[in-house]
Amino acid sequence: MSATQCYMCDATATSVEHVPPRCLFPEQKDLPSGVDLRKQLITVPSCDVHNTSKSKDDEYLLYALSMNIPNNPTASNHFATKILRAIQRNPSVIKKFTEKQIPVKVEDTQTGEIHETLALQVDRQRLESALMMIGRALYFHHFKTRWNGSVSAYPNFLLALTEPNARELNEPVEKMAALAEEFFLNQPCHGENQDVFSYQVAAGQSPVETIMLLRFYEGSRVTLLFRNGG
Ligand SMILES: [Zn+2]
Repeated sequence: MSATQCYMCDATATSVEHVPPRCLFPEQKDLPSGVDLRKQLITVPSCDVHNTSKSKDDEYLLYALSMNIPNNPTASNHFATKILRAIQRNPSVIKKFTEKQIPVKVEDTQTGEIHETLALQVDRQRLESALMMIGRALYFHHFKTRWNGSVSAYPNFLLALTEPNARELNEPVEKMAALAEEFFLNQPCHGENQDVFSYQVAAGQSPVETIMLLRFYEGSRVTLLFRNGG
């Protein structure tokens, strides 16, 4: 009988880790009665090191996601309840996000409405690393084996706003997002709480072995490319 291995390394798993993090899913007390958004959350076996190393990034991911404009009412409600409570408890948490605010006008592409909002400068590397970890965990969950190649994350919501060449920087991001939507159009969607999170998976073309499309609160989407080799 062999012990269960961690989703990231050869160590024996000592706990399970939620993927994506459980804090993204609203609690019962913040929802209308009868609504359950924590149905059959996905977990992977994890060692102590890989369980604790992620928890700070999880929180960061939650803030970055819940402030995105294209999200659904579930995200807004989650922000108005859980996240505001967390900010009241520990105002320094939110400071990281609000230090560099830039007022921007954003057009809702469906209604044409212009919203005035604040864009928050996101630590791109940190966010991408959190998303790559989620990618590895989902791969483990979906295929029951560890992914040893590389993972690249392409969020659709990290658009450049202030750089003088913002248009050129954003073009590949938008192109990738559009391609992924088209590619996954008729593929099944996995996940029991799709208001919060769902994912799709398909085989790619070498050197990309697998492609995933993650949807957070419907509107925040991330394309993940799993490439063979380093
Ligand atoms: Zn581990």
